[in-house]
This record gives sequence, structure tokens and C-alpha cells, in this order.
Amino acid sequence: MSVLVTGGAGYIGSHTVAELVAHGESVVVLDNLRQGHRAAVLQAPLYVGDIRDTALVSEILRKHEVDTVVHFAAHSLVGESVQKPLDYYDNNVNGTAKLLSAMLENGVKRIVFSSTAAVYGEPVRTPIDEADPTVPTNPYGETKLAIERMFRWCHDAYGLQSVSLRYFNAAGAHPTLAIGEDHSPETHLVPIVLQAALGQRPHVAVFGNDYPTSDGTCIRDYIHVMDLASAHRLAVARLRSGDGGCEAFNLGSGTGYSVQQVIDVAREVTRRDIPVQQAPRRAGDPAVLVASSGRAKEVLGWQPLYNDLATIVASAWNWHQSHPNGYADRTKPEEA
Ligand code: UDP
Repeated sequence: MSVLVTGGAGYIGSHTVAELVAHGESVVVLDNLRQGHRAAVLQAPLYVGDIRDTALVSEILRKHEVDTVVHFAAHSLVGESVQKPLDYYDNNVNGTAKLLSAMLENGVKRIVFSSTAAVYGEPVRTPIDEADPTVPTNPYGETKLAIERMFRWCHDAYGLQSVSLRYFNAAGAHPTLAIGEDHSPETHLVPIVLQAALGQRPHVAVFGNDYPTSDGTCIRDYIHVMDLASAHRLAVARLRSGDGGCEAFNLGSGTGYSVQQVIDVAREVTRRDIPVQQAPRRAGDPAVLVASSGRAKEVLGWQPLYNDLATIVASAWNWHQSHPNGYADRTKPEEA
């Protein structure tokens, strides 16, 4: 019995693979390495390929006796999704439909899905509850929501069991520093702030200082990547217990921090200068996104361990300091 992790060479995927392996799971990874890193997959066989390749997916499911899929493989950049919506529908929605076909053909009926706070769009209240309206404001969130809805129909038609995990803002790295965050291009606030601290960027552009928040910058809910990883492990256990059906859970800390507060905390943690430049608002950014994660705690038994922003930023800083060029710092000497 094994777990197939699609997108397991990516940021959250690779940390989830490490978490599953650390808890005794047999894991196999499928990743096209478009965004993922071969060096991020340390303890599991890696198949380089596409989730839309149903023959390959079927072969993996059978060969590794997969009983549950944890599905990360997706395009995940909000701005890019606005520029290239059809790519997002094809890779995310059509890709998941193909993956599900291969799963169902092989009798695999459990899936844990990497969803997002972007399914909510502009929230109607804070903190956001799972039952709140889902009105995405960009194709990325729209495709993730379409997939969640596909699960509902596949539950009714074929008995598919699913857990969708709606993440807020992931940051941090594995405590061993064997894996961490390395996106190209980097668009996320925490790594960008730390790259500025390292002198790799001249400054951090703060996207908007006229939001209706205490200091005018956007508020987000930052959650450590290992806490996300543990939620996936618990979701796999819930599906195997047979208690699940078709469920969605928010994963956040429940505390919001503004962009300015993140920069201030990073200055304290790194003791470095972090130059800032004001920039226009980024299209599609809601002012405040904070999760209510009570359901994940209650139903999955989830207990986040990294509860404050300074700890999360310190974890990310350890990775960035030891890997200023991301995985390139590890793979090059090994390849040489
Ligand atoms: N942000 C920023 N400058 C950057 C990157 C991000 O001001 O260079 C802001 C962004 O507008 C948002 C917050 O930081 O309010 C978090 O953005 P990120 O892209 O990390 O995550 P998102 O909330 O979009 O998932």
C-alpha cells in the first residue's frame, strides 16, 4: 500500500513527502519538474511525467499498489493564471479529470487535494469559515474550486473520497534544511523579503499601502509548511479510516499579519537591513485573508506546531542562508 504524491518535487509537495515517509508511509512521486526540483525528492521514487498521461499514472498506481493520492501537481501563480487561463484549465482541471479517470480505472478512490484560500475570493468576513461563499477572483482559484466541485460529483457517481485542503500563506522550511522553498520566478512575500535581506534584491516592493488595514498593507495568515504537511498526513489517515466523504478544510494559523509586519519581523529575525519601496496594488489581492481552522483541528486532529510569525520566518531564513541559490546550491556540487 503506497501513497502517490503528484507534484511531490514542489515546495509543499516535497515537505509532505518527507512527512509521510517520516511516519512510515511508502511514497511514490509523479512530477513534471516544470516547477519542482529533482533534488527535493529525497526519500521516494520519482517519475518525471504529466498527470494527463493516464497510461503512466495507471502504471504507477498498479506497480506501487497505490491506495491514496495526494494531489499537488498544478499551475499555481495567480498573475500567470490571469494571462493564460486556458493553460490553467487544461493543466489543473483537465489534468485532475485525467488523474481521477486513471485512479478510478484502477480502483483508487481516495484523494487529498492541494486547494487554496483563493477559492474564496474577496472574503465576506474574517476569519474565513469553510462554509463562506466561494467566489474566486482569478482563474487559479476558479480552477481549484472547479476541481473541488468535480470531487463532489465523483463522490456521488463513483464513491470517490476526498479531502480538499485550502491553504493560506505557506512559508518556512524542513527543520533539517534538506528541503525548502525555491520558486523561479519567486513571487511570495517571505522569500522575497529574505532575498532582500541577503542582498539578492535591491528592495522589497510593497504592493499597496492604502488598504483598509491598520498600516494600509495587506493582511495574510502565514502557516509553516511542516504544519501543512502534517495536515496532509492526517487527511490521508481520515480517508483510510472511511470516515471521510467529500470534505474541505482551511489551513491557517488564525492570526493575520500585514506585509509591513512581516518585513518588521524579518528585520528582527535576520538583523539585516531590508530596503522597502512602495508599489501599486497587485491586481486581485484581497485586503485581508485570515483562516478559521477550527474544523481541521476538530475533525482531522490537526495541531500546528509553528505558531508565531517569528518562528516561521526564522525557519525560512535558516533555509535561505544555507541555500542562497536554492537547490542549485545542492545539486551542482553533487552533479560535478
Ligand atoms: N506582496 C508584496 N510584495 C511582494 C510580494 C507580495 O507586497 O513582492 C504582498 C502581496 O500583495 C500580498 C502578500 O504580500 O498582500 C502575500 O503575497 P504572496 O504572493 O506571498 O501570497 P498570496 O497572498 O498572494 O497567496
